[in-house]
Amino acid sequence: LHNQVQELKGNIRVFCRVRPPLDFEPPSEVAQIAFPDDAEESKEISVMGPEERSSLGVVSRRNNAFSFDHVFGPSSMNSDVFEEISQLVQSALDGYNVCIFCYGQTGSGKTHTMSSQDGMIPRAVHQIYDTAKNLEDKGWTYTMEGNFVEVYNENLNDLLGKADEFDKKKHEIRHDMQKCKTTITDVNTVTLDSPEMVETILKRAAANRSVAATKANERSSRSHSVFILRLLGRNSITGECSEGTLNLVDLAGSERLSHSGATGDRLKETQNINRSLSCLGDVIGALGQGKDGGHIPYRNSKLTYLLQFSLGGNSKTLMFVMVSPLQTHLGETLTSLKFATKVHNT
Ligand code: ADP
Ligand code: MG
Repeated sequence: LHNQVQELKGNIRVFCRVRPPLDFEPPSEVAQIAFPDDAEESKEISVMGPEERSSLGVVSRRNNAFSFDHVFGPSSMNSDVFEEISQLVQSALDGYNVCIFCYGQTGSGKTHTMSSQDGMIPRAVHQIYDTAKNLEDKGWTYTMEGNFVEVYNENLNDLLGKADEFDKKKHEIRHDMQKCKTTITDVNTVTLDSPEMVETILKRAAANRSVAATKANERSSRSHSVFILRLLGRNSITGECSEGTLNLVDLAGSERLSHSGATGDRLKETQNINRSLSCLGDVIGALGQGKDGGHIPYRNSKLTYLLQFSLGGNSKTLMFVMVSPLQTHLGETLTSLKFATKVHNT
């Protein structure tokens, strides 16, 4: 039934989450953002814009209102957020391809939401594991296989491989057009035969990334990380098979670095990030306009090419737009919310 309910709403949804100010961020630095009260389920968020001076010298501020499928306020917990996506996660067991993205500037809460030890990745694995166990009575056996890769400068790296091979070892994306199946060459595939494996995987990926980071460059904010979970089900009673994929994506920071200051590697990184994020928007936009089957620009970036069979067609997409509460981030916050609105309206 849950899949029917989601079908009615369309296959692309957008959730917004505002993170709380951290201990060292004083109230004086917090922007004026109106978000939902905890108790109520809300879809609205409004952000007071920066001061603007008219030609007559009058100073005013504009209130910018946005609406999404769900808005989580700063006191929401990862458990509350997971509750709202658990049906979507479940549909991967039913054989759907699902993509969940976290979009937002660095520091807005993407990794906390997606890839922390308490985030959506471990919660999804634990839930899938529990549900699969319950389905054993009905004859189902599932195998869960995972890959964890990053897209950095339009190259793939294996987060479960060796850090010293990052940016050196080449990984190709292979699509089997008949089976609508994607494989990546030379990456480690982990069989998740116990749910606790996911904690090990997250630790290994985080360690690899910090080894591969350069001094001035916190790598995780400059690359997209993609956790891919393939769920293969077989029913010994009915003979049915199912094959679904859950892709959990922690996107690179969406902030625009000033081009004037950036040179060399930094400039290249920035251009690659901007290009791949706008390509993601274009692909989702084209799919939303019902161009499915027509030309979808998957090939314009590694990320969309990798996720080709999980975007569009019989698949489900959810984007989280993450919001920092800080006044200094106001410009980026508005840019993110506008991007997400475009995705939401497609
Ligand atoms: P990003 O991945 O977008 O750069 P992070 O997830 O690393 O951002 O979040 C930045 C900081 O804010 C981290 O210290 C993180 O632990 C904290 N944080 C983010 N979201 C929350 C939240 N909902 N509750 C408490 N702390 C949070
Ligand atoms: Mg992060």
